Order: sequence, then C-alpha cells, then structure tokens
Amino acid sequence: MSDIAKNIFQIKNRLRNAALKAGRDPETITLVAVSKTKSLADVRAAFEAGQFVFGENYAQEMAAKAAELKDMKIEWHFIGHLQKNKAKLVAPVASWIETIDSFELATAVARRSPVPSAVEGSLVAQKIKCLIEVNVGDESSKSGCGPQDILPLARRIETLQNLDLQGLMIIPPFNPDPEFGRPYFKKLRELLSDLNGKLDRPKPFTQLSMGMSHDFEVAIEEGATIVRVGTAIFGERS
Ligand SMILES: *Cc1c(COP(=O)(O)O)cnc(C)c1O
Repeated sequence: MSDIAKNIFQIKNRLRNAALKAGRDPETITLVAVSKTKSLADVRAAFEAGQFVFGENYAQEMAAKAAELKDMKIEWHFIGHLQKNKAKLVAPVASWIETIDSFELATAVARRSPVPSAVEGSLVAQKIKCLIEVNVGDESSKSGCGPQDILPLARRIETLQNLDLQGLMIIPPFNPDPEFGRPYFKKLRELLSDLNGKLDRPKPFTQLSMGMSHDFEVAIEEGATIVRVGTAIFGERS
C-alpha cells in the first residue's frame, strides 16, 4: 500500500471514531482530500485508494488537474479564495464551491455554470453546490462574509437558478492546538441554525464545512459535515 493509501485509511478510521464518539453517523460526513500543490500522481494514488472527493485552492490548478484527470469520476470542491474573473475556470469543473462570500461572486459563478436546458437533450446540467464562507472576526483574513451578511446573501443566492446553496464554511485563524478552533466551529453551527430559523424553506440547510488535518475531530464533535484534510493525507506541502 502507498503512504497515501495508508493515510487515507487512517484518516477515515479517525473520522469514523470521532463521529461515533459524538453519536453521529459517519456516513453523513464527507472527507475532502485537499490536493493543492500536490501532483497528479498523488491524486491518482488517493483515487485508487477509494477517495473520490478532492479540494483545490487555486483556480488554474484546479482547472488543469480536472482536465488531466477527466477519466476519473472526481468530485471537485473549490475551497480557496475565488476572484470573480477566475469563476470561468472553476465553474465548469467544480461540483462544489465552498467559498462564496458575496453576491457578485455568486453571480459570476452562476453566469459561468452550465444552464440547465433542453437543448442538450438528456444531458442534465448539474447545479453547482455552494457554501457561504463566514468570517467571525478574523482580522488576518480578508475573505468570508460577516455573520450579519449571511441571511441577506443566502436570500439572494437562492434567486440564482444555477446555484444550490447547502450551508456554511469557515477557516478559523491557524493555530496548531486542535481545541483552538472549537469556539469557531460552535459559532458556525449556531449561525447555520439561526439561518434555518429565519429562512422559511421546506428543507433546512445542513452542510457545515469545518476542520482540517489538525482539528477535524474537534470539528466533527461540533457538527462538521464536510472536513477538508490535506497534510495528513498527502504530507507537508513545500
Ligand atoms: C489547505 C487547506 C486545507 C487543508 O489543510 P491541511 O492542514 O493541510 O489539512 C483545508 N481547508 C482550506 C481552506 C485550505 O486552504
């Protein structure tokens, strides 16, 4: 077994144990393997080990990898800061965009995503699933919308027929202590519940993307449904 395959096996075990310990169903948690800066061979190794969901931070890199790996049924999540003028690179290949933080960006993505139409016959275009990236007062980060902007942004995203809003995402300031992120994860869960309370939708939003290599177990305890793990699968990035 390759190191990558072993790491994936171990991370899935840890994910499962964390879920069970928290009284949650492990099947409701998606592991995103964050492959930014890593080679195509690394992505293939992970894919062969049964990992089908990958995350990328840079628009060009994601577009290039998706093109090279077209033969594999990969679900790509875009998790980096997205500039509006790069939406055209990401929208055609991303199944998920986790970092929507303005209506302008949402519109740019929606404009670039395939419009569901009868012209293509049986080919049904997929809506892009998306998350609102939230910033709860991290001064060092310029991305993410403030808590007070979530509700108006969600209402506006819901008017875009090519996007399918699923929930919220957060990147807390980095700190190697796994417990450091806990208050941020708690806060994100409360914000999702507030949002669901205020929006009168038939189905509540359910997705919380939070937790990375060093703190995904804490995030799972706090309700993460998507964890984004890079280093613990692929090793350190140079
Ligand atoms: C790089 C990155 C990750 C993965 O971080 P690791 O510490 O390598 O697990 C997760 N989420 C985002 C947004 C990232 O940029």
